[in-house]
Amino acid sequence: MNSNSVKEIEDLIKIISKLPGLGPKSAKRIVLKLINNREELIKPLTKSLAQVYKSVVRCDICGNLKSLNTNCICTNKKYDQICVVENIADMWVIESTGIYKGQYHILGGTLPSFENKNSGNGLLIDSLVNRVKKNSVKEVILATSASVEGETTSHYISDSLKNTKVKITRLAKGVPVGGEIEFLDDGTLFSAFKNRAPIVSD
Ligand SMILES: [Zn+2]
Repeated sequence: MNSNSVKEIEDLIKIISKLPGLGPKSAKRIVLKLINNREELIKPLTKSLAQVYKSVVRCDICGNLKSLNTNCICTNKKYDQICVVENIADMWVIESTGIYKGQYHILGGTLPSFENKNSGNGLLIDSLVNRVKKNSVKEVILATSASVEGETTSHYISDSLKNTKVKITRLAKGVPVGGEIEFLDDGTLFSAFKNRAPIVSD
């Protein structure tokens, strides 16, 4: 901090530079923009942040984000397909391609490639099995990444779903090894989705 700096401003710059894609330089530009637009930006931003902080939560059934004041999309619609992803960003990427318009299930991460996997590691796997049974889902599309952890997770899930009659498919191998869904271009993702293949469990 230099002698001319204001502590409140420095604090804000520090917080904003933690956001993805932003470094200290762009954080400074953002803060300056905010300060120069107190009424138009700071006021509504403060209000909006407080609202999100207070009322946006993770649904403990499907893992999606939802508002405390509304029912989650997973409870108020009939569906026969579920696409399983690791995180919200992956879901947004798949949504943006427009290839799939059905329900999602957000695991909240992957299983480690080693260790005892019986615990499910806090991932929403039991609730996925429940959703499949309860809604007589016809297809579960596994869209976990092609990393070792993603593969481990996908095997664990298809194992957990063995006793249901659901068809389980996995995105085609167009996904580069270790490639995370989030960083795939639309074309690759589109064809990986289109050419998804059934998983044969042993
Ligand atoms: Zn939900």
